[in-house]
Amino acid sequence: MNHPPGILLYCRPGFEGECAQEITALAAEAGAAGYVRAKPASGLVFFAPYELSAGQLRRRLAFRDLVFARQMIHEAVLLDALPTGDRIDPLLAAVRSQFGGGFGTLHLETADTSEAKELGGFLRRFGPALDSALRKAGLLRNDPAAARLHICFLGSAAAYLGVTDVANSSPWPMGIPRLRMPRQAPSRSTLKLAEAFAVMLTPEERADWLREGRTACDLGAAPGGWTWQLLHHGLHVTAIDNGALAPALLADDRVDHLRADGLHWRPRRPVDWVVCDMVEKPSRIAELMTEWLADGHAARAIFNLKLPMKKRREALETCTLILRRRLAAVDFRLDMRQLYHDREEVTAYLRPVA
Ligand code: SAM
Repeated sequence: MNHPPGILLYCRPGFEGECAQEITALAAEAGAAGYVRAKPASGLVFFAPYELSAGQLRRRLAFRDLVFARQMIHEAVLLDALPTGDRIDPLLAAVRSQFGGGFGTLHLETADTSEAKELGGFLRRFGPALDSALRKAGLLRNDPAAARLHICFLGSAAAYLGVTDVANSSPWPMGIPRLRMPRQAPSRSTLKLAEAFAVMLTPEERADWLREGRTACDLGAAPGGWTWQLLHHGLHVTAIDNGALAPALLADDRVDHLRADGLHWRPRRPVDWVVCDMVEKPSRIAELMTEWLADGHAARAIFNLKLPMKKRREALETCTLILRRRLAAVDFRLDMRQLYHDREEVTAYLRPVA
């Protein structure tokens, strides 16, 4: 184990550059310069600080500040010469010497690439044996509030070991929420909004803001995956799109479909939510969403920002500046995240601070 410990991030393959820039900038804000290893299309980014220890960084970085990372694993070390005859003993020894134990859950993972997923069969066989060896050695106990141990296999003889804190990480293995595609939903896009609700809202927000009696406008609604998702939670939806909505949605009396331009249409009465999935320049969508909230047309917004091919982080910074400038007088909170179901895009959630 000759490599210094650092932070291991999982991201969408193809976004390693953005993820690396982001962790470098955030670590610098936290007082840590460092170097990055990020092989293109690997879905993994490793950042090692030069001076601060990986343990110090663990306390200074907030997972929610990262847009492109699906998971942030601390104090990560690479074991790159695991004997394929017996991986368990060296892994146990490394876990003991690196962390001393005290883990509540084991996440045995790979990067989100087809190459890495070929290790799936091996991990399914190896996982139960490793789990029981860790328990026998007193390194793992049933405690969902205790830190999680992550072992991310890169190949059959190489793996990263690291830790996440429950309150400062994604709860899902590989940072990917398991959502089932609802059979009745008219498009797969429904999963983007379902994931945004699951990942970006607190349980209290879900209970209070996603229920019968709440109202929403869906800009760029056709064929209706997002509208379906809102209806599924009991909301009344005004769906704006010149395109056709799925017939089942039109038959629902909680849906009003208006063929109008979503860039200019505004509701007569304020609504609880505006959601927007229109394919438009991200800065134009950021302007639009700030107008909706600043002018009191909606209380909260969830919207997709379609990323350009290049300078994607710069495009997001421009959007953030637009939102902050216009909403400077009001206390709003903005979170952005590239969700698992997002492609060349990120999802933003804008709402007033309670
Ligand atoms: N969220 C939808 C779903 O779950 O089925 C998919 C939306 S699709 C990515 C984008 C939609 O935005 C298209 O149906 C398109 O007609 C609509 N759109 C684009 N520009 C628009 C505009 N200016 N006004 C209204 N709709 C617009």
